Amino acid sequence: MYPRLIIDIEKLKTNIDVLGALAKKAGCSLSIVTKSICADDKVCDMIASHPAVSYMADSRTGNLKKYCQKAHEAGKQTLLLRLPMMDEIEDVVKYADISFNSEIATIEALNKEAARQGVIHKVVLMIDLGDLREGIFFKNREEILKAAQKINDAENLNLYGISTNLTCYGAIIPKFDNLSVLCEIAEEIENKLGVKLEMISGGNSSSVYLIDKGQLPDKINNLRPGESYLLGNDTAYGTRIEGTFDDALMIEAQIIELKKKPSVPIGEVGMDAFGNRPEFEDHGIITRAILGIGEQDMDACGMIPLDENIRVLGASSDHMLLDVTNAKQQFSIGDTVKFKLKFGAMLKAATSEYVEKIYK
Ligand SMILES: *Cc1c(COP(=O)(O)O)cnc(C)c1O
Repeated sequence: MYPRLIIDIEKLKTNIDVLGALAKKAGCSLSIVTKSICADDKVCDMIASHPAVSYMADSRTGNLKKYCQKAHEAGKQTLLLRLPMMDEIEDVVKYADISFNSEIATIEALNKEAARQGVIHKVVLMIDLGDLREGIFFKNREEILKAAQKINDAENLNLYGISTNLTCYGAIIPKFDNLSVLCEIAEEIENKLGVKLEMISGGNSSSVYLIDKGQLPDKINNLRPGESYLLGNDTAYGTRIEGTFDDALMIEAQIIELKKKPSVPIGEVGMDAFGNRPEFEDHGIITRAILGIGEQDMDACGMIPLDENIRVLGASSDHMLLDVTNAKQQFSIGDTVKFKLKFGAMLKAATSEYVEKIYK
């Protein structure tokens, strides 16, 4: 069935091998992030059995629930990346060994629930180093110390570490300088509270590039790559990570119409399907292919045709348009076109129930 997401498990495994070797060099453990591939069962089986992985991390409690037993049997801990919703505290304590937190009210609720379940829940305090998504702002040292103290004092919580997330909202790039602030904060907590923090987690895929540059501060001992093992790229500068595959995930879709037509629409231009006013370059008469896939299943800007002579023209909810005038292959109706993916397209394809997942 088309459209399909082709998942090459061996290539994903190779990508994690590469990240594992990098992490080892930096003295870091690996939290492999499963959210963007919707915690796919077969991918998660591979991750659970991968010796370089210490933690299986996701932002959605439901995904942790799906694989928490498998992770535990393989000796991995489960980690909830998104701050818990008050609504899901019971499941967080049940299915996440560790959760990231920044709010006292949530921390108190976790402690109460952990007591009810008779367990110790591990809490990692989130520090915002300036990307301005989650975490206590790095300048508010007193608030950070108070929260750390609170977690440390809570009977059924364990202050497991501190963490930061960058390059997600504010697109701030991790550097030696900003990550050193995280390390300073870790030291301050350790000294003032007389504890040893198990995890000092220095970010997601965008921190990986620092390893080869020798610029990841020594005290950082964990990284949380997602996109980089799925698509093989460093997300700080968008470069490829050496030795990884960028085609471990591909989308294949089928041609449902193939016609020669003008490249500029005829008539008064209003709004497109998404309320935007499109602009068109005149390439004369072109061969236009329509694929049976649309914005509901992918992101047209994030689709990279394997044949670089194919031009992506755009998409509406369930149609994608290509200029195949100069394509290497002479297409017919029923032929398929393959694409490598950028993050947004991968996310939608993995999430769309209209996209079949097949494995290599
Ligand atoms: C999504 C997420 C990650 C993984 O990010 P990538 O850019 O896919 O590597 C890591 N940490 C947190 C907190 C996240 O939300």
